Amino acid sequence: MINRLAAMALPADVPAFLRSEAAVNEIDWLGPEPDRWRLPADSELNAAQSPEHFIDLEPADALGPLPHRRLDFEAKVFAAGQRPEKIGLQPWEATEVWERLLVALREYRHLAATAGPTSPDILAAEQAAIFYAGWLGHYVGDGSQPLHTTVQYNGWTGPNPNGYTTAHEIHWQFEGPFVASNLHIAEIQPKMTPARAIEGDIFDGYVAYLRHTATYVERVYQLEKAGGFVGQGTVESREFTAERLAAGASMLRDMIYTAWLDSAKPVPDAHTAK
Ligand SMILES: [Zn+2]
Repeated sequence: MINRLAAMALPADVPAFLRSEAAVNEIDWLGPEPDRWRLPADSELNAAQSPEHFIDLEPADALGPLPHRRLDFEAKVFAAGQRPEKIGLQPWEATEVWERLLVALREYRHLAATAGPTSPDILAAEQAAIFYAGWLGHYVGDGSQPLHTTVQYNGWTGPNPNGYTTAHEIHWQFEGPFVASNLHIAEIQPKMTPARAIEGDIFDGYVAYLRHTATYVERVYQLEKAGGFVGQGTVESREFTAERLAAGASMLRDMIYTAWLDSAKPVPDAHTAK
């Protein structure tokens, strides 16, 4: 739903190939794509990419400011005697996939300006950009779920004065069956924010998005305690979940839009940049 809503809400100055019905359908299909990479049978892929779906901000922040580059973060984690796959790599993966989309859109602009309109290369570049946009959507969607940002990701741990659930069920109960049974595009769409370009550094903007999501961790547990994720839940739990899905869709739309705008900016040649 997040991928579909984002693609449907792209501003009119985004090229039509990204907003067509076929593109919306493909971006929708690609939403769960990284979850298709989680089979134990595909063992190397599963191991490498599973940590890209989440970040436990508490242990990550305990190591100091988040470095912009994945390998710098991983080096810090190893130096602290810890393992990156336990803490998570969400913001690096999301930023890197966004940059792939940016590159694809740059290529598209170049071809659109230099090749004929029936060039097969243009169609290929369009397909690449659609794929990256859909792939990106998975992580932005994960990033709207508070339980993807915390050590409290599936049952409360540590001191528990409010008596929150400690069962290892809340994560999937909330984002799986509860959403599937109770949330629809029609309730989410009106909660989306107006489209905007993301100003400043994309990694910083994405981390700010995750930190905002993380402010709702305890709220998820409060809603669960009130029966919010059983059956039809409560008015509050449905409102909250619709807002979270809308936040994910709005962020994904804005990231795709920003990639399109940024792809027009000139970049230094790969050889002179060194
Ligand atoms: Zn995921």
